[in-house]
Amino acid sequence: MATDESRESAGDATLLAHLGRNSERQDGLVNTPVTRASTILFPDLKTLRAGAQEYSYGRHATPVTKALQDALAQLEGAHAAFLTSCGLAAVTTAILSAVRAGDHILVADCVYDPTRKFCTEALPGLGVSASFFDPLIGADIAGLITPQTKAVFLESPGSLTFEVSDVAAIADAAHQAGAKVLLDNSWATPLFFKSFRNGVDISVHSVTKYISGHADGMCGAILANEHAAGDVERMRKLIGQNNGADEAYLALRGLRSLEARLSRQAASALEIARWLETRPEVARVLYPALENDPGYRLWQRDFTGAASLFSVVLHPCTEDALARMVDGMRLFSMGYSWGAFESLILPSVPIRSATEWNEAGPLVRIYIGLEDPADLKQDLEAALERLG
Ligand SMILES: *Cc1c(COP(=O)(O)O)cnc(C)c1O
Repeated sequence: MATDESRESAGDATLLAHLGRNSERQDGLVNTPVTRASTILFPDLKTLRAGAQEYSYGRHATPVTKALQDALAQLEGAHAAFLTSCGLAAVTTAILSAVRAGDHILVADCVYDPTRKFCTEALPGLGVSASFFDPLIGADIAGLITPQTKAVFLESPGSLTFEVSDVAAIADAAHQAGAKVLLDNSWATPLFFKSFRNGVDISVHSVTKYISGHADGMCGAILANEHAAGDVERMRKLIGQNNGADEAYLALRGLRSLEARLSRQAASALEIARWLETRPEVARVLYPALENDPGYRLWQRDFTGAASLFSVVLHPCTEDALARMVDGMRLFSMGYSWGAFESLILPSVPIRSATEWNEAGPLVRIYIGLEDPADLKQDLEAALERLG
């Protein structure tokens, strides 16, 4: 797009088609090519000493990784964006940028399990203590903040149990104590939750999921405001995080259709979630886009859309019955990640330390892909009938 003003007034779907492109510098090519590079040459000693050229080494940036970073930063309203090898590396690099030995980090009890493990198994060895809190705590988080607390890590909604946090209230309390606010925003994507308008300092994404969106590329991104960007950039360089040109190209290609895919998938997800609520085998549907979900009010206040990932809690059943249900599916497959264009189903057990998970029956996470929702419903209906 031509100017910064036309960018600022454009809608997100328009931005998706135009951000991260640099056709004038690329002989008119619409897409930034796959620019594989390790060594990048300097013309003379003066330029090398001054570091005075845009690209200096493949680990730092190439045109296609930079194009993806620029697009993500503008979409979410960040000061800067940094790619990582995967979403988990974005989580861990972002945390390492915000704490050091002697510090304490507060972590939402609903975080993605590898995030929890990094905090409980890697941080103590670095002299950083982590404790968990109820994601519904809101402004009362002030009571858990100590002089050592330098960061608060959120995942809203939690990507397994779907609690929505009051991000702005938590951010206010954290900032009053001088702590940074980090958010795993992978579910909402840069489209549906604008982190930096809600007080977040660092937003991380598993780009692998919705953005790349085709079950092939792995990629992560750390987006930061002006206050946090310097520390993120420094830590990312120190530990050597970036991503390759092929993965960045795939993510940029996925990004172009993000709005179209997500809105279609969200419409199917809402239809299927509403139908699941009426099924006798289902105890609860955990999806903040449903009017009677406890997170609905905050979701409506803070988000402009819902992703297509939600969970159901079934009535208590045997492991055999659960296996009959998920092993006999025609369209839904089982596997890690969330699904991309294809639907996935995944029985899972929430792990808690600050709150209790009291549901009697098993939790099953469902990802609605791009298939015809009537076909998906039929597959789920047969599955629930196999449960007995
Ligand atoms: C998958 C996931 C990650 C990690 O992303 P990878 O790209 O698989 O490393 C981080 N956070 C959440 C919420 C995720 O679902």
